[in-house]
Amino acid sequence: MTLDELIQKVEAARLKRSEHLIVQIVAVTKYTNNPEVLKRLFEDGQRAFGENRVQDMEEKVKTLEDLPIEWHFIGNLQKNKINKLLKLNPFMIQSINSYELAEAINKRAKKPVRCLIEINSSGEPTKHGMAPEVAVDTYLRIKENLLNINLQGVMTIGAHSNDEKKIRESFRKTYKIFEQLKPHGAKICSMGMSRDFEIAIEEGSNMIRIGRALIESYI
Ligand SMILES: *Cc1c(COP(=O)(O)O)cnc(C)c1O
Repeated sequence: MTLDELIQKVEAARLKRSEHLIVQIVAVTKYTNNPEVLKRLFEDGQRAFGENRVQDMEEKVKTLEDLPIEWHFIGNLQKNKINKLLKLNPFMIQSINSYELAEAINKRAKKPVRCLIEINSSGEPTKHGMAPEVAVDTYLRIKENLLNINLQGVMTIGAHSNDEKKIRESFRKTYKIFEQLKPHGAKICSMGMSRDFEIAIEEGSNMIRIGRALIESYI
């Protein structure tokens, strides 16, 4: 679907939740290496782009450096790629999946970086992210000790399932953690992808990360 079509769907979903809910869209561009695709999205008004590999993000950042794009890193970050990522000056790193990773970024960063903690809300062993049980405590420890990690909230990937109840449950669990962290400055609840963004918004998401459903119309 086009960006306009996506925005209409987001609009309908958010009104089911609350007229006060504002939902940001991150366009996930990992499926293409063609900068023209990103340019077309930019011309349609898209400003936030997400990538899950440092190498791919580096190429796109360099090719499109004249455009005022917000780059979100959303993938599993290996420690040996941290310096490379920080050099790209990402707008946000959404995938802090352990205290140790936050510590490693904190040590290398020369200024505070916006970050989200990633929560494995479905408990699927193939997924990255910290266990829901330790998320609040880890968030607070990072916030207290690591001054170059500017925590803004939480991110999750919904349960990989055809059972809507299971998907909803993983989003609900994440939203509960988000609510506990709001008094500690959490503002962003990043959940929802192509197949489940409407459910995520109904469960309170205010940032969705859309790849396949959006990119196909721009290729
Ligand atoms: C690929 C990816 C997305 C987008 O997924 P689609 O199903 O293509 O919309 C969102 N978040 C993360 C972390 C991803 O890796």
